[in-house]
Amino acid sequence: MILILSPDTRTDSEEFRQLEVYLDRIPNVRHRIHQETGEQQLLTEVYLIGDTASVSVEDISNLPAVERVVRISEEYRVLGRHKDGNRPTWFDYNGVRFGQDTLHVFAGLCAVNTPEHVELMMQALQQQGQVCTRMGAYKPRTSPYSFQGHGKSCLPYVFELAGKYGIKVVAMEVTHEAHVVEIREALEQTGHPTGIMLQIGTRNTQNFELLKYVGRQREYPVLLKRGFGITLEESLNAAEYLASEGNRKVVFGLRGMKTNMGDPHRNLVDFAHVPVVRRLTRMPVCIDPSHSVGTRDQAPDGLLDVMHVTAQGVIAGANMILVDFHPDPAKALVDGPQALTLEELPYFLEDVRVAREAYEKRQQLAMQYHRERPLSV
Ligand code: PEP
Ligand code: MN
Repeated sequence: MILILSPDTRTDSEEFRQLEVYLDRIPNVRHRIHQETGEQQLLTEVYLIGDTASVSVEDISNLPAVERVVRISEEYRVLGRHKDGNRPTWFDYNGVRFGQDTLHVFAGLCAVNTPEHVELMMQALQQQGQVCTRMGAYKPRTSPYSFQGHGKSCLPYVFELAGKYGIKVVAMEVTHEAHVVEIREALEQTGHPTGIMLQIGTRNTQNFELLKYVGRQREYPVLLKRGFGITLEESLNAAEYLASEGNRKVVFGLRGMKTNMGDPHRNLVDFAHVPVVRRLTRMPVCIDPSHSVGTRDQAPDGLLDVMHVTAQGVIAGANMILVDFHPDPAKALVDGPQALTLEELPYFLEDVRVAREAYEKRQQLAMQYHRERPLSV
C-alpha cells in the first residue's frame, strides 16, 4: 500500500507526526518514507510493507496529510504504475527533465579514447543543440585482453570538456562501486561542470550488490540496461532494487537480446517492449540501437539498420536514445564498426525528429479515437 501525501508535507510537521503515530500502531506493518524534491514541490510517499490486507483504505485516507491511498496489486512496488495515473512518470536532474513524455538523445563515444576526440564529439553536440552524451570510461569487455577503458584518468578532461560545451548529463557505465566514488571525486575536483547518469550495463543487470549501492545514493540518476539473457520481469525487478533502496531516478534501457535468432544483428532488437515498460512502470524508457544492431549495415532504401531500429523505438514512444558516435570510427578503441560519424549527426537527429513527430501524431490520433468512443476505454 502506498500513501501519497499532500505536496510539501514536511517530516517534522505535526500532521506527519500524527500519521507516524497511527502507522506505528498497525501490527505487522512497517513503513518506509520516500521523498522526491522537485523543482516546484516536495513529494512524499509512504510505503506500507507487510500484512496490509486488513488495513482500511478509508481510515488511512482520513489521516492528516494523506492525499491518496493506492493499494498495490502488482509487482514493482515503487516503480510500478498501480493504476494511479497521477504519480510522477518523470524526474529532473541537472536542469533536464526525464519522463515518459520527453525524448533525449545521448549520442557519444562508446569508449573515451583521446581528449581530442572527446572535444570534437562535445563540439558537434553543442552545434546541434544537444545537452546529453554518452562517454565510456569503464568498459566491461568479454576478453580480459581487450581495452578496458581509461578509467578514472580520463574523467577530469571528459567532465571539463562537457562543461565547456554545455553538456548537462553524461551517461557513464559503472561496474563497481569504486567507480561511483571516482566519478564523485572527479566532479568535485573539476567544480561540477556537468552531471552524470550512472549506467548499469547488461552484464550487471542482476549484480544485486551493485544495484543496492547505486540505489542507496540519490545524487545521480541511473540508466539500467535490460539483462540480455533474462526475462523482462527479471530486469524490471532489478530496476526495483534501485528504487527500493531509495533512488527512483531510474531510466530503463532496452538494448536487444542475445540469441542467434537476431542474426545478422548483434542482438535481437526488442524495441517492441517500449510501450510494455511504459505500461508496467513509471520509468522513462531508453533504446540503444547501436548495441542492438552492432553494425553499419544499410538497407536497400539507403537507411542504416541502426537508424531503422532507432525510428522503430522512437515511433513506439521511447524517451531516450543511447547511440554510439565517433569522430573517426576506424580509430575507436571499442565498437568502432557500429559507430555513426559526426557528419551523420545532424542527419540522425533529423531522422529522430521525423519519427518523434510521427509518434506524437499517433498519440493524438489515439486520444481522438478514445474521446469519440468514451465507453471503449
Ligand atoms: C555500452 O553501452 O557501452 C554497453 C557496454 O552496453 P551493454 O551493457 O548494453 O552491452
Ligand atoms: Mn559498446
